Amino acid sequence: MRLNISTFSIALVGGFALFMFVLWCLSLLVLVDRQNQQHAVTFRQNLHGQVLQLQQKQRLWLQSQYYLLNTLAESPSERHKFQTFLWDYYQRNPSIWAVNLVEFDERGNPVSRSSKPGCLQPGQMHRDDFDDYLVPQISSCRIDDKALLEIAGPVAADGDALVLLVSMDYFDFLNEFYSLSGRRLERVADNEGGFQFHEFGLTANATNRVVIPIGDTVTVAGELHLVLQSVTFWGLFERQAGIVITVLVAASSLVLLLLYFSLLRPLQELTEKMRLAAGKPQQGDSSRGVEVMPGLRHLHDDFNALQQSAKRDPVTGLNNRVIFEDRLAQAIREGKRSGRRYALVLIDLRGLTDFAHQHGQYIVDALLRQVADGLQKSLRESDHVARFERNLFALLLEVQRRDQLNTLVEKIYLSVVRRHQLYGREFDLNAYFGVAIYPEHAADAGDLYQHASDALVRAEHSDWPIQYFRDADAVTDTSGFTLIQSLRRAIEHDELKLVFQPVVDLASYDTVYLEALLRWKDEDKHDVSIDHTIRLAEQNQLIKPLTNWIIEAACRFVSECDIEGIAIGINLSMIDLHDRRLPERIDTYLRRYQVRPGQIVIEITEGQIMQDPDEVVDVLAHLGVMGLSLSIDDFGTGQASLTYLKELPVEKLKIDQSFVRDMTTNPDDQLIVRATIELAHTLDLKVVAEGVESLSTCDLLAEMKCDYVQGYYVSRPLEAEQVATWFETSVKPDLVRKGR
Ligand code: C2E
Ligand code: MG
Ligand code: MG
Repeated sequence: MRLNISTFSIALVGGFALFMFVLWCLSLLVLVDRQNQQHAVTFRQNLHGQVLQLQQKQRLWLQSQYYLLNTLAESPSERHKFQTFLWDYYQRNPSIWAVNLVEFDERGNPVSRSSKPGCLQPGQMHRDDFDDYLVPQISSCRIDDKALLEIAGPVAADGDALVLLVSMDYFDFLNEFYSLSGRRLERVADNEGGFQFHEFGLTANATNRVVIPIGDTVTVAGELHLVLQSVTFWGLFERQAGIVITVLVAASSLVLLLLYFSLLRPLQELTEKMRLAAGKPQQGDSSRGVEVMPGLRHLHDDFNALQQSAKRDPVTGLNNRVIFEDRLAQAIREGKRSGRRYALVLIDLRGLTDFAHQHGQYIVDALLRQVADGLQKSLRESDHVARFERNLFALLLEVQRRDQLNTLVEKIYLSVVRRHQLYGREFDLNAYFGVAIYPEHAADAGDLYQHASDALVRAEHSDWPIQYFRDADAVTDTSGFTLIQSLRRAIEHDELKLVFQPVVDLASYDTVYLEALLRWKDEDKHDVSIDHTIRLAEQNQLIKPLTNWIIEAACRFVSECDIEGIAIGINLSMIDLHDRRLPERIDTYLRRYQVRPGQIVIEITEGQIMQDPDEVVDVLAHLGVMGLSLSIDDFGTGQASLTYLKELPVEKLKIDQSFVRDMTTNPDDQLIVRATIELAHTLDLKVVAEGVESLSTCDLLAEMKCDYVQGYYVSRPLEAEQVATWFETSVKPDLVRKGR
């Protein structure tokens, strides 16, 4: 059976009313019992009280009787008056059934003058009889077990005395008592000869027997008016039912009405509106549609807002983990279908807790927002970013080429691990990256996440903060901590050195400049990878002292070697370019070692410019104004924009060695190199080809009108001591051999 809400409400209210009714009936049963008990107690108290009153009356009566008898004895006229009074009394009291005459013999014993007990019936007695009966004594007798003689004469001591007592009809009283209480009140004693000695006993309960004497020595006068109230269930029910049922019905109706107006009717209206909204609006009934739609639209808007807040990280506004995992699962499904590859990058930020302690949570929140902005800017449309937990961010990147992924991840790394400025203060943020790639490292989202987490853990314990899952090429697993310590000491103790690799003019064979390249041997005297060293320094806030050391060493070398027209190329780190005081730092060393700005060539990579173009452009422009020459290093591997190339005071483009090395055999590389040379020339830039390892490469570059070359074919990086010799040899042997 289907219950609709109206039926259900009625049933509910009806059931409740019925329940209340039953509860009331049960309470009646209890009430009846209580009231009866109470009435019994009251009855006893009343009975006792009235008997006491009766005894009191009796005493008064006796006193008055003695007084009367004395008077009567002395005065016949008074006696006559009394007889008259008695007659009146007899006539006024129809309950007086009979009159008996009792006489006393010489010994004072009572002797009845009536021939038979019972005597006269009411109304049969005449006035004369009455007088007659009255003398000398009137006593009592029983008539048919029903009534008691109402007029009785008590014992008189001297035989002349006349005593008149009027007593009640206690048989009637007994009957009434019995019918009311169910208890028998018996006359338990009676004396012979019509004299009365009454005892009343409550005999319904033998253990609770109550004896109430109302005259054991004298005849009783007076009346008892006792009613034993008894209550029955139906009696009470009849009395209260009217009110209770009325109240229940009224209350139920009220509740039903309230339910109807507050719940049922709105629900019905809503259902109706939903029904209308679901169906096509009828023509001419557009008003109802208009009325319904705002409500539905608000409902829909609220629902959307709720959904959005459930998806978003409240601090950064990025997606949260739930949505990201959904995107990751989608991407992997897409990858399975289309063969696309995706990288999951987990980023663990460090130092936030300290910032929160030192500067307050608002700084951490602002930092998180800045990091989130940076991450979003670094991403392409197909990529996703989310904040998982307090310190943990996640990226989903589509991978086209592995080397591009590495570049992108490093670029993102540098956007996070840098000096952040907030509210006029600077914060050096640290981070670890763990990367896993689908499908190389895992076939599903769960495993991919696990592998990225493993890589992240490895990043935290190794000396290179970006780790790829099972990627043996990423970084050698030397102890990062020891390495950093050694690097710090090497900088402080001047244990680093520079080597110098010439960049030569292809037309004149002149040395255009010498590129200063860092060399460092660790404690075991092994060469440490310079790329690695630079990143380690960037990572551990050592890049500034390191770059200072390099600039100073280069300037000192220029001033000490004393070679006419010598110029030195210095490679700068990404972080250096974000230091607005870099020009000032360089200027300090130039002045200290008396080096002209024109003797310094600054090499920067494309990626460095693109990271934060506006800031970097400012610093580079400043260097240009100072008179330093700028060269774009590793051209072709990054994403340099021509706009910036035009804006910056750049003089040289250095084509990355990856294109140069195999250009004689690889037509694609050849094409790129040729196009780059042409492009550079249209922008009025000189072109350097680096990584030139063979004569044939040299020839091809010459044919392409490349301006300068650098590479092992021309010269390996030279020790400082070898530089003088290099310059002394005016014509370079290899080039001479070729007849240039
Ligand atoms: P880079 O600036 O592009 O330097 C060229 C790198 O190619 C040097 O490696 C050099 O020894 C190497 N090279 C030169 N000619 C050839 C060749 O014909 N064949 C091959 N296979 N390699 C050649 P190095 O010295 O290991 O430097 C690697 C990178 O480390 C540099 O790339 C540069 O980005 C960075 N680096 C080196 N020294 C410094 C420095 O003093 N400061 C900064 N910030 N970075 C530096
Ligand atoms: Mg370089
Ligand atoms: Mg290079």
